[in-house]
Amino acid sequence: MARNLFLYDTLTREKRIFKPVNPGYVGMYVCGPTVYGDAHLGHARPAITFDVLFRLLRHLGYKVRYVSNITDVGHLESDADTGEDKIAKKARLDSLEPMEVVQTYTLRYQEAMRELNVLPPSIAPRASGHIIEQIELVKTILDAGYAYVSNGSVYFDVEKYDGTHKYGVLSGRIIDDMMAGSRELDGQEDKRSPNDFALWKKAAPEHIMRWPSPWSDGFPGWHLECSAMSEKYLGEEFDIHGGGMDLIFPHHECELAQNMASRGKGGVNYWVHNNLITINGQKMGKSKGNFITLEELFAGTHDLLEQPYSPMTIRFFILQAHYRSTLDFSNEALQAAERGLKRLMQATKDVVSLKHSPDAPLLKQVAAVEEDIYQALLDDMNTPIALSSLFEAVRIVNGAKDKGEVLNDVDYNTLTKLFTEIVSDVLGLVDERQDSSAESVIGGLVNMVLESRNAAKAAKNWAESDRIRDELEAIGIRIRDTKEGTEWELTK
Ligand code: ZN
Repeated sequence: MARNLFLYDTLTREKRIFKPVNPGYVGMYVCGPTVYGDAHLGHARPAITFDVLFRLLRHLGYKVRYVSNITDVGHLESDADTGEDKIAKKARLDSLEPMEVVQTYTLRYQEAMRELNVLPPSIAPRASGHIIEQIELVKTILDAGYAYVSNGSVYFDVEKYDGTHKYGVLSGRIIDDMMAGSRELDGQEDKRSPNDFALWKKAAPEHIMRWPSPWSDGFPGWHLECSAMSEKYLGEEFDIHGGGMDLIFPHHECELAQNMASRGKGGVNYWVHNNLITINGQKMGKSKGNFITLEELFAGTHDLLEQPYSPMTIRFFILQAHYRSTLDFSNEALQAAERGLKRLMQATKDVVSLKHSPDAPLLKQVAAVEEDIYQALLDDMNTPIALSSLFEAVRIVNGAKDKGEVLNDVDYNTLTKLFTEIVSDVLGLVDERQDSSAESVIGGLVNMVLESRNAAKAAKNWAESDRIRDELEAIGIRIRDTKEGTEWELTK
């Protein structure tokens, strides 16, 4: 069945039928992390949003080249092109080489993404590996007359660009308002206007990450890498450019201007942005004490957390909101997500063992539920509606299981397909308990040992009972006698 995907484009502010530049093939670029600290909640939402889009496009039969960069140079502390490079600062504070910082946090980020069942992109290019491409792009923009050299740095001339094109179309900002709102050229005297942004920055003597260029020993501006690398891997015009809403301005606005100035076109057919996460109604921030890393979330070690939350619980929770809506984290909401996920996973397991035959009557609602799920997913990835329709499927599975009902083969196949192809392949929700087959083996062994210990206790052989307890403790299994029986937990 030919199905159309509708996708909302931030630039035109409309939902349109998705038509790729090249039939059957999708080029997608998503801004990745600046790797100077642990992956946190703010990373989980874009990663999961674009992972589901990647999976959905593949499910619809497209071949997808998914590029997501690693920013390892040029991202300064302030959007006004001032302050230290975030990675260089971390390297200085920890007495490390900048590339040690990059390697450490890239690996940690990738590990957290693997736990969230986020598929790795087709290409994960690093900014520092594309300095030549970025220098070439600066030359092109200079040649086109939309940039100027000032004291060894190169700046994009926003005012000149605004005269021929329109600056601010993506974010909806108007240049006059920006001028009124900006302060004096505080510490950025090289710029003609505070709206101008750096394409190339001359490095101060103490700046470690530096490369030779026609203008100075320096480093590229943050926005430049995404224009250069998306063009290199996806061409001058590609289908989807994604990222969090916080990147619309200045990052993507500047990228769009760079593309227009160098190629004469924006180069992106759908700008897709996910909304942000709040915590108990507040914006997340290091100064607010509500900055939670993914590691802390999985282990339950942050003060705001009542318990650990598994990666799949986080994934399910994020999919319960539409990607363009805000999403508020709270213990109550996460605990509700945990229960919902458990029900969905139980049905995923139960559906395969339902009885079925070619002669049983067809249930009308199975085909209707399937249609609802596709409609929701194709309507700008409406995962909350798709999930609520999936819970209709859960009710059908539970009903058939409880009553021992025999399903028609067609319904049975549709249901099993929904749980494998939609739940697992498209939404990426998998049963974490399945991964713990080793744990269930350990459980069986511990119970055998505890039975021997109970026998020793029944025979009043306290020495033997204590020996078993101590030996279990020594290998990392702690037991505790309660009124209900003996409980055990792994301590390692
Ligand atoms: Zn970017």
